[in-house]
Amino acid sequence: MGNNVVIFPTQETALFGICPKCGRADGFVNIGRVQVFFCNQHRTKWWAGANLFSGRCDENPEIWEENKRQLAAFRDVEPLWPADHQNSDNTNRNLSDAT
Ligand SMILES: [Zn+2]
Repeated sequence: MGNNVVIFPTQETALFGICPKCGRADGFVNIGRVQVFFCNQHRTKWWAGANLFSGRCDENPEIWEENKRQLAAFRDVEPLWPADHQNSDNTNRNLSDAT
């Protein structure tokens, strides 16, 4: 991967989805306003969202094209969302408590 990759600590990547095969994310790149996370080991990628982070004004369409090229060989996958799973667990527990 190139120099445009932002590496995140695992704790934070969990908020933006993780690789369904290994539960990790190696980082993300910006493509326009969209942040695409990826796993190098399994060559997976997924959209985390758009405009997640500010201060991206230093990047330009050339960099985005480069990022897109780098991820071209990666497979689109549905990421896991550990944060969501936690929330739904809590919801289920509350519902069963009520009944
Ligand atoms: Zn992986």
